[in-house]
Amino acid sequence: MVDQQPQVVSGLQLWQWRNQAMQAAIAAAVPPSEVDWLLQEIAGLDRLALRLESFKDWSEIPMAMSLADLEQLWHRRLHDRLPVQYIAGVTPWRKFQLVVSSAVLIPRPETECLIDLAVAAITHSQANPSLDQGHWVDLGTGSGAIAIGLADVLPKATIHAVDYSATALEIAQANAQNLGFADRIYFHQGSWWEPLTPLKGQFSGMVSNPPYIPTETVATLEPEVMQHEPHLALDGGTDGLDDIRHLIAVSPSYLRPGGVWLIEMMAGQADAVQEMLLNQGSYCNVQIYPDLEGIERFALAYVSGE
Ligand code: GLN
Repeated sequence: MVDQQPQVVSGLQLWQWRNQAMQAAIAAAVPPSEVDWLLQEIAGLDRLALRLESFKDWSEIPMAMSLADLEQLWHRRLHDRLPVQYIAGVTPWRKFQLVVSSAVLIPRPETECLIDLAVAAITHSQANPSLDQGHWVDLGTGSGAIAIGLADVLPKATIHAVDYSATALEIAQANAQNLGFADRIYFHQGSWWEPLTPLKGQFSGMVSNPPYIPTETVATLEPEVMQHEPHLALDGGTDGLDDIRHLIAVSPSYLRPGGVWLIEMMAGQADAVQEMLLNQGSYCNVQIYPDLEGIERFALAYVSGE
């Protein structure tokens, strides 16, 4: 959203806007701390200046948008439940600042764990010490978060990022470019593994945060998610498992023997996912991992044969 012309406001004007925005946030049951987060992003204020209110005396503060535009977007935050990350146009994720728009899911804190689990999966695989090399893929990359996270921790690997949405891929590519990973990540438009057919059997690992929410549940999600985030990235079909089922069925022909299969899923899906992986017949060492809240959130498996 931050594509407006830079603007300058006085510290006093911004102080007054902040007070009023915080009051309105409390009245609308939105955390008032979001105002300060937004001002860090839009006005470049640091937390100390915000806490001490020292910016009140500054004569000029450069802003990424006018106060009128900020006010209009804050109104949308409170009354249309537009997520604050879409207003700022960025979100923090692991050590990165990622550009986001409503074309991509806002990367979640729990998804950060997938990167550490991929590293642990490589470290623990005594059978296959070269898993940190070769091709790795993030299927359904969205903002590019997972692909960038993998490129960061797997310096010897070639990373691929696939998304069905061309608009999402543009954002992912911009993020890779901004963060210095443009030469490490190959972007492909298409459905799941399909654009990677020429590399069948060669992948050391696959990581995905696929859509996993049952269709009927999508309508019950909080309005920030339901009304503003892309349903393509959320809706996993009747039982939420359509895409995970597809990834279980198809991945063994793309991964090399011993290759890593790693996904995020929803609370309550672990037993079904584990059973599908075991029944498929091509996987071994199936494991379920919790997120930081203790919810069974991640499924990891290796393709048998090494
Ligand atoms: N974790 C997301 C949510 O809470 C859903 C992401 C997904 O479906 N992959 O809405």
